[in-house]
Amino acid sequence: MPVPADSRPYPIVYALRTVLTALAVALMVFAAPTPSSGQSVYIRSGGVLDVASGTVRSGQIVHVEGDRIAEVGPLSIPSGATVIDLGDNVLVPGFVEAHTHLALSTQQGRDFGRFFITNVIETTAYRALQGATNARSLLEHGFTTIRDLGNNGNYADLALKQAINEGWIPGPDMQTVGRIIAPFGGQFHLQPERPELIEPEYLIADTQDEMRKAIHQNLHYGTDLIKIVVDDFDYIYTEEDIRFAVDEVSRAGRKLAAHVATLQGAKNAIAAGVSSLEHAWELEDEDMRAMVAKDIYLVGTDFPPYYAGYFAGYDETRARALYEQRIDRLKRAYQIGVPIAFGADVTDQKDGHSRGSLTISFIESFLDAGVSAPDLLRILTINGATLMGLDNEKGSIEAGKLADLVAVPGNPLADPNVLQRVSFVMKRGVVYKRDGRFEWQVPTTIDAQ
Ligand SMILES: [Zn+2]
Repeated sequence: MPVPADSRPYPIVYALRTVLTALAVALMVFAAPTPSSGQSVYIRSGGVLDVASGTVRSGQIVHVEGDRIAEVGPLSIPSGATVIDLGDNVLVPGFVEAHTHLALSTQQGRDFGRFFITNVIETTAYRALQGATNARSLLEHGFTTIRDLGNNGNYADLALKQAINEGWIPGPDMQTVGRIIAPFGGQFHLQPERPELIEPEYLIADTQDEMRKAIHQNLHYGTDLIKIVVDDFDYIYTEEDIRFAVDEVSRAGRKLAAHVATLQGAKNAIAAGVSSLEHAWELEDEDMRAMVAKDIYLVGTDFPPYYAGYFAGYDETRARALYEQRIDRLKRAYQIGVPIAFGADVTDQKDGHSRGSLTISFIESFLDAGVSAPDLLRILTINGATLMGLDNEKGSIEAGKLADLVAVPGNPLADPNVLQRVSFVMKRGVVYKRDGRFEWQVPTTIDAQ
């Protein structure tokens, strides 16, 4: 129902916005395409991964028109056409990282690796700038799509997404959750004189009314999905609480991601029918079978042992024990057939690594859990795209889909570790990395969103 004109606040703002929108549309219509987009390009490579069959096909040419794949097959390249020749490198779909936090970079030297302190001492602006570097790093390492699951201060994730979409900074396509919704305390240990230190990291919701309000706030600011923390304290969200949130979020056509750390939290979230369990360190086989039946994804964020030691400060023996327990859970989930998406949840620094290189190194956990190379590639591409509702657009190299393409120096089915050495990255038909070098031009045309 339209709002009566006289009840609108600041009508001049609306008038101005209408004029600006008309102007923006006019500019978009007449804007010249940026040099590397909107073109017709033929890509020659050492092979093209077909995600569905789990095979690498040779003799294939990928024809990209604008931001989409026009054709794939043994095409003849018209004379005079623009050709990208990747030599022996093999083309795979752009990777999907389903659990990251762009604007959270804990630093031992500044916050002792504790994100509560990050929240207290760092501004959202500073964190957003770090996020811009993390976004570029993920793209450079092959991640053309990410699900950012919160901990971004005061909605830095939305600003990053807008800046990437408009072309101000290079980065993956994003889905965002805004502020994470949680019972009192969020994921922090507060003290009674400083309860405000929860701000701006979490939206606190202890009742269903508060939950609805928090969901509406996030949706109003433009988030793509909602995330709740189920069980970081003894007072956990019940099945009824979570079902209430699922219903509220579903009505808005969105999905609910649930952070769960305990077995009971996982059981509540599965019974309520969330879209994904984040972490879910503890799962019994019957829980996993319920996840299969309800098509609930596991985004396990299982880190390699060296990361456990560094991130949690565990000694080698304890880090190894934690790792073994988590890999056992991942192995059982894989064998039972739980839908799995790749998510690394990297928030810390490691010498010699960027956000992107550290993130892709998490494939080692999947290989340790006995995941086959074709399934690892599905977990890294089409599964994440499906969880995000983007499987018609992303996740495989097929005519009609967006041209999100990555090349690696070898056949990843024979040696999955080549996925850690991405040589070429294209997102939506635009080349961001070529011959192992990142390339990006400061834009001269901004596509205002
Ligand atoms: Zn996380």
